[in-house]
Amino acid sequence: GSLAERILATMRDVEDFPQPGVTFKDITPVLADGDLLAEAVRAHADPYRDRVDLVAGLEARGFIFGAAVALHLGVGFLPVRKAGKLPGPTLGVDYDLEYGSARVELHAEDLPEGARVLVVDDVLATGGTAAAGCRLIELCGGRVVAVEVLTEIAALDGRTLLEGYTVRSLVTV
Ligand code: 5GP
Repeated sequence: GSLAERILATMRDVEDFPQPGVTFKDITPVLADGDLLAEAVRAHADPYRDRVDLVAGLEARGFIFGAAVALHLGVGFLPVRKAGKLPGPTLGVDYDLEYGSARVELHAEDLPEGARVLVVDDVLATGGTAAAGCRLIELCGGRVVAVEVLTEIAALDGRTLLEGYTVRSLVTV
């Protein structure tokens, strides 16, 4: 089958994780399949050859795919981390969750002014995390070329929060 079909067949739905009523899309079986992992990384990277200066990965599974994509493209990697993990100095962006709020942070010094950045994560759900990551890259002086995710949960309409950005997913569920 196509790459999308094989990724979809390999991912796992976990009911009631991390909380009752939530169905979690578990992508670790994709990581564990060497051929599929390599194909997914190539698919994420190939459109951006010579078009990006850095890849930014969103904590935590975005680090796995993002670092691999950066190596594939021969560019550096920026970890966009949850609050309080980076020693600093950092810049941060706060964003709303269903209950409460969260914050993403970046070592701004690692991002040269005007650098073209590809944002990578595993799953796009409400889009809040990716939108905050994009705003943070811009706050640090970077330019977001696109957002690449392995899987997009269409019903949660994450693209609405990412209006104005190019968003690409390898699989839509
Ligand atoms: P959002 O901010 O779009 O609502 O949530 C996306 C973030 O939460 C991503 O960093 C993603 O890793 C994580 N996430 C949310 N839902 C899922 C899910 O069902 N499966 C996985 N693997 N990650 C999820």
